[in-house]
Amino acid sequence: MLRSTLLAASRSRGVRRLVEANPLTKPVVHRFIAGTTPDDAVHAIRSLAAQGMYVTLDHLGEDTLDAAQATTTVRAYQRMLRTLSETGLTDRAEVSVKLSAVGQFLPTDGEKIALDNARLICEAAAQAGTTVTLDMEDHTTTDSTLGILRDLRVDFPWVGAVLQAYLHRTEQDCRDLATEGSRVRLCKGAYSEPASVAFQDKGEVDRSYVRCLKALMNGSGHPMVATHDPRMIAIATDLAARAGRSPDSFEYQMLYGIRPEEQKRIAAEGGRLRVYVAYGDEWYGYFMRRLAERPANLAFFLRSLITQ
Ligand code: FAD
Repeated sequence: MLRSTLLAASRSRGVRRLVEANPLTKPVVHRFIAGTTPDDAVHAIRSLAAQGMYVTLDHLGEDTLDAAQATTTVRAYQRMLRTLSETGLTDRAEVSVKLSAVGQFLPTDGEKIALDNARLICEAAAQAGTTVTLDMEDHTTTDSTLGILRDLRVDFPWVGAVLQAYLHRTEQDCRDLATEGSRVRLCKGAYSEPASVAFQDKGEVDRSYVRCLKALMNGSGHPMVATHDPRMIAIATDLAARAGRSPDSFEYQMLYGIRPEEQKRIAAEGGRLRVYVAYGDEWYGYFMRRLAERPANLAFFLRSLITQ
């Protein structure tokens, strides 16, 4: 109930105005978001790299219905990729892209525009010497996103995708994508989805996550285990060992600011750990999804508004 209310609020312009206008929001937001500028992102990458970790960078923005805004987002990614190259950080950092931020929802030719824009970002990544992962949004976009992935991988076989274990279809998608060179980030899923397409019970989502992990670990692609759940992490480690995988043939991924001690532990023990670092001005939707994932975060947020 609380989760779906927060996810509904994440799409409400009224609540967005209220949250953004409150000056006390900022310090809490900074727990999850590295800052607003490329320099802030570079600072976060350097600090995580010094601890042996890798990064995927998200220039915040989603759901644009404006072609000019989509182009602005593409330029921001191109600038960021140039910065990564100039600062020698491409061996530590790649980028994550939401197709809705580069035109997928535009009423005319949205899918084609998103593909063309994603291609521009992939070209910039190829020049810089790094990779791109396509984030996954709500279930109405899954087919379109996987279609765009297929097209991009013809020229850029290293483009990765995200699959969400809460969707009924995902186990099969994992089997289909567990092929040589295929980078798949498996997460539980962050959106509010109907029972017709998604498991509603947390136990069922976890069981689906394990089935998906098995498909990915036993395949020949590069699984990216995106979860903060200690049980899922332990199961992934075990499945990777049983499949005879070397530590660099798969990776763990977590969000910036969430379970940082566990992030350090995995990296210190020789696991490949990548942190999803979000930066930029459009932090509202991302921030609200993080609150929805954990009631304690909401309590922390409300308490800080009261006590500051
Ligand atoms: P949960 O069962 O939700 O949590 C397990 C434990 O992790 C909790 O008990 C708590 O200790 C800790 N935890 C989890 N979330 C939080 C939080 N917000 N704050 C503090 N502690 C927390 N979802 C998408 O739908 N599309 C994507 O493209 C996408 N990309 C992602 C990329 C990465 C690298 C990661 C890590 C997640 C991504 N997600 C994405 C979000 C994901 O779907 C989940 O919503 C999120 O990771 C919480 O699920 P969990 O697996 O951590 O397990």
